[in-house]
Amino acid sequence: MALSDYTGLTPQAEPGMVVGRVSQHHLWTMDAEQTARCPHCDAVLDLHERHLLVTLSEESNYLPAGKRYLCDEACLQGWLDAE
Ligand SMILES: [Zn+2]
Repeated sequence: MALSDYTGLTPQAEPGMVVGRVSQHHLWTMDAEQTARCPHCDAVLDLHERHLLVTLSEESNYLPAGKRYLCDEACLQGWLDAE
């Protein structure tokens, strides 16, 4: 699947939200340690290393509803699909 194919899907754990955009992402700045937790596998991500950045929107009005950082496409699929 292309990353754009995930747009419009709803994460299992976040009903009422839809995926806006998925992109390859990593931080270039080296000034501070920045980490985030993958909502699927609970791994701690170093945001300076390559990961997926997902923007979420409210399903009802498409207002921005935050960002999620995931390890890779496998985690993205697991997060979006029922298990
Ligand atoms: Zn993960």
